[in-house]
Amino acid sequence: MLPTVAIVGRPNVGKSTIFNRIAGDRISIVEDVPGVTRDRIYARGEWLTHEFALIDTGGIDIGDAPFVKQIQEQAEIAIDEADVIVFLVSVQEGVTDADEKVAQILYRSDKPVILAVNKADNPEQRQDIYDFYSLGFGEPIPISGSQGTGLGDLLDVVISKFPEGADETDDDVVRFSLIGRPNVGKSSLVNAILGDNRVIVSDIEGTTRDAIDTRFTSESGQEFAMIDTAGIRKRGKVYENTEKYAVMRAMRAIDRSDVVLTVLNAEEGIREQDKKVAGYAHEAGRGIIIVVNKWDTLKKDDHTMRDFENQIRQEFQYLDYAPIIFVSALTKQRIQTIPDLVNKVHVNQSRRIQSSVLNDVLLDAVAVAPTPNVRGRRLRVYYMTQVAIKPPTFIVFVNDPELLHFSYQRFLINQLRNTFDFTGTPIRIIPRKRQ
Ligand code: GDP
Ligand code: GDP
Repeated sequence: MLPTVAIVGRPNVGKSTIFNRIAGDRISIVEDVPGVTRDRIYARGEWLTHEFALIDTGGIDIGDAPFVKQIQEQAEIAIDEADVIVFLVSVQEGVTDADEKVAQILYRSDKPVILAVNKADNPEQRQDIYDFYSLGFGEPIPISGSQGTGLGDLLDVVISKFPEGADETDDDVVRFSLIGRPNVGKSSLVNAILGDNRVIVSDIEGTTRDAIDTRFTSESGQEFAMIDTAGIRKRGKVYENTEKYAVMRAMRAIDRSDVVLTVLNAEEGIREQDKKVAGYAHEAGRGIIIVVNKWDTLKKDDHTMRDFENQIRQEFQYLDYAPIIFVSALTKQRIQTIPDLVNKVHVNQSRRIQSSVLNDVLLDAVAVAPTPNVRGRRLRVYYMTQVAIKPPTFIVFVNDPELLHFSYQRFLINQLRNTFDFTGTPIRIIPRKRQ
């Protein structure tokens, strides 16, 4: 499980600046997916050997709530979602009433709170941080989002507060989540899937978030964990009904899943938000299955399924590897095939191919489609080796990585897909210069 860090603070202290600094390249990767615009509220960060999830609570606006209410709700989100909270203030304005309002909410939490004083751009300003002791969160850490200074010191403290064992996972269990807009039928699907299978009652008291996941074994004996998402666990807090919060929860669930079921509503077709979360799952390298629910509601003829499938392929071009199933939580049509399909995708995303076999594929590929010439220079592809699973990741050694364009990468990926069963999983190619 990824440890989670939330940034809180009143508007304008520099939350999104710090968020972008820490999340770095990972955000822009997501934005490269066609048709995906990304809210900058959730991303993955890395420091030393630690990976973590990062939330900018300031990006989650709570409808038209008044200012104070907004920042209080955002602080509550941090308390609910995070393992470690970074409370951000600004040295340029000093301690404000709004900072004190945020502090009052954070006092109620037993989560570690780290006080970071932003906009400490020069040595004089770094001297001014001591006023912030009055907020009652111990020693303030001076940082500057615009200069990028102090972030290393801040992150050292952040990772020292991660709960123990936060990044351990149980390898025998296949973890999956159902993601989709409200009302597509996620809860109904959860119940339909569980109805057919043996639910394992967790004997852990509900202290860890993990315990919220529902575990079950399928008929074939495979153990699954179904990950809780917004819309399934309804606790009745105000912010839980906001769209950005739902998107953030969906992203968190995706990060914790091996396989993501993107649920669409057959009655409504595809919406922008569907693309957003599917794009995130793709970039995160998760297995993906597209589930079209409420299939019972359509009047069908010979073309209906094919037409729907064509429409999906058109809208989600980068998900050409994802299987599509048409189901009904109401009539239970094809529900019993879901666990097996999830398992199959999990097998595929965990598949390892020997280098010798890969190189036969590479030889064949180069024979079918000679490597391109780019401004008089020919790409040379020497060999290929698999370096990771989930998703399967291949390093391709070439004469010059610049020459391995997207289209030839795509061609190599297709050759891999034609030779091995990688249904449901993204594949990554990393070009490297042969030494
Ligand atoms: P948020 O509302 O808390 O997310 O704040 P933003 O990240 O949008 O930043 C608010 C303003 O402060 C922007 O104009 C930033 O350029 C500026 N800012 C952010 N970090 C720093 C910093 O370290 N030093 C200075 N001088 N300005 C900063
Ligand atoms: P969620 O918000 O995505 O969890 O959606 P729900 O599971 O709460 O379902 C929303 C509504 O759609 C409810 O009224 C369900 O009874 C209905 N629904 C869910 N699945 C199906 C289905 O397969 N067929 C039909 N006709 N209705 C469904």
